[in-house]
Amino acid sequence: MTHGLIFDIKKYSIHDGPGIRTTVFLKGCPLSCWWCHNPESQSPQREIILRENRCIRCGACIDACPHHAVSWIDGEPITDRAKCERCGVCAETCYAEVRQPIGREMTVEQVMAEIDHDIAFYDESHGGVTFSGGEPLLQREFLGALLEACQARELHTAVDTSGFATWDTLDRIRSFTDLFLYDLKLIDDERHREFTGVTNQPILRNLRDLSALGHAIVIRIPIVPGLNDDDEAIQQLAEFIAALPHRHPIDLLPYHHIAVDKYLRLDKPYRLFEVRRPDDDRLMNIAQLFQQFELPVTIGG
Ligand code: SF4
Ligand code: SF4
Repeated sequence: MTHGLIFDIKKYSIHDGPGIRTTVFLKGCPLSCWWCHNPESQSPQREIILRENRCIRCGACIDACPHHAVSWIDGEPITDRAKCERCGVCAETCYAEVRQPIGREMTVEQVMAEIDHDIAFYDESHGGVTFSGGEPLLQREFLGALLEACQARELHTAVDTSGFATWDTLDRIRSFTDLFLYDLKLIDDERHREFTGVTNQPILRNLRDLSALGHAIVIRIPIVPGLNDDDEAIQQLAEFIAALPHRHPIDLLPYHHIAVDKYLRLDKPYRLFEVRRPDDDRLMNIAQLFQQFELPVTIGG
């Protein structure tokens, strides 16, 4: 049975493609964007997120952990993440729900059973199913099987992707994908490497190739003050998109920092504490720069 690692299934989503949708979030991503608002999606393994302020210091997790990864330090149950095997035993024991496992192994049949519950909503709203992440292409066979199962039910399918994959991978899933929600961040490769951890070369190449084949694509650009919102970066993005074989709508996604708390709970560093949402005037100004290239652009999405 084909199976994969899911970290969330969101019902009644209205921001991940047309109509009312179910969004299935696959765990694991090859990028590590500074502004990522789903840091729990990045690791391709199960993780344990901690809400330490809920702890009643009962010590049950210390006794339960089979890997001796939790111990008292200054009266607090502290988890040594180097020793933690992410087995989830402590979460089952923790009465106060301090310890939340992120990532659930699911079969295609189990995911489809959840999707099937909402078929009436998709029909009424011209919605469907979106696969997001993380980077869903990282679990290529699982994603392919899910898309095929959706199309067998005649459900509209969307894939929300960074585009960082081999063409072979995209080729495996593209004929089962009605819409790509394709993230584009920066054209300057040096800055792309700095802020995402990877080169943008396959991303740009794959976008050009998907466009040439006539796929439906919405290009989604996060606007992050100080990282990619300067005129030069926007001009480069607009020039690249205007030169694609087909016209594609653009959604500008203003940065927000609601994920800060998740970084703290995962014990991951957050580098954008000082950055705030771009102001509305600057967003309008950026939209106008795209419009100068006669590109259809929306703020939000
Ligand atoms: S997830 Fe498993 S290894 Fe990690 S702290 Fe909990 S019980 Fe120990
Ligand atoms: S089991 Fe939960 S509430 Fe008890 S000490 Fe561990 S984290 Fe705190």
